[in-house]
Amino acid sequence: MRERRRFDAVPRSPRLFETVEDRRPAFFTEAASLDAGAVYGERVVARGRATLRRWEPSRSKLGAALAKGYTERLPRPDEGWLYLGAATGTTASHIADLVGDGGRLYALERSLRPFARLLRLVERYPNLLPIFGDARRPETYAGDVGPVDGLYADIAQPDQVEILLANARVFLAPSASILLVLKTASMGRAAEPRDHLATARRELEDAGVEVVSVLGLEPFHKRHYLVTGAPTRALFRPSARPAPASSPRARRAERPR
Ligand code: SAM
Repeated sequence: MRERRRFDAVPRSPRLFETVEDRRPAFFTEAASLDAGAVYGERVVARGRATLRRWEPSRSKLGAALAKGYTERLPRPDEGWLYLGAATGTTASHIADLVGDGGRLYALERSLRPFARLLRLVERYPNLLPIFGDARRPETYAGDVGPVDGLYADIAQPDQVEILLANARVFLAPSASILLVLKTASMGRAAEPRDHLATARRELEDAGVEVVSVLGLEPFHKRHYLVTGAPTRALFRPSARPAPASSPRARRAERPR
């Protein structure tokens, strides 16, 4: 459908467009795909020669963050990003749009079924590089991923912060950014989400990540936060060892449910 309403490019990520729907801001990414179809049933509109895809807040945590007024770092054209927990590619497709043809998105997933769908997406998104692997073992895909400008993690695991840190130490360029989707329900339901957030924040800061912003994602995604961070030199010090794989939390995470 061709649209006449106004779409404004968002300066900090110029392949992202903002418009107004039902008197609320709505966000679209300019498709970097080889065809103009939807990826997960989202609305698609034509704007000149470009195709814009609506970023559905209820389907994507980063989309929800935008709908809630997120104004921090976003992937930009020509950047390289590593995505932990890409699943079937819902959010990954939008990030691939943001980095565009000149960028690349390494998309890691360890479950076979979503990975099979992610592979199909690659036929349309040449800048999306899927990796079948376990984010707890960055050494197993280190040869496939170069230094990246950003790390996006949405893995919903009890040790999600440790996993993020292990990857950040290996893959992040020093001026890179971290976007962590923190699923507090994965850290246990005994404590309140804000207490889990405080724990995660402490872990990040102790490891050498400056926490730049925190945004709650309710009502779109219950008990989730988007945490934006920047690595400091401390993160890359040789003494900054990843938490041993046999730590109590990692062992708990590995236990079959
Ligand atoms: N980020 C996706 C999106 O917005 O489209 C949704 C991700 S879903 C909440 C979490 C995903 O992380 C699942 O597909 C799961 O298989 C994957 N995952 C969990 N632990 C992982 C690990 N250790 N390594 C790689 N992927 C993992």
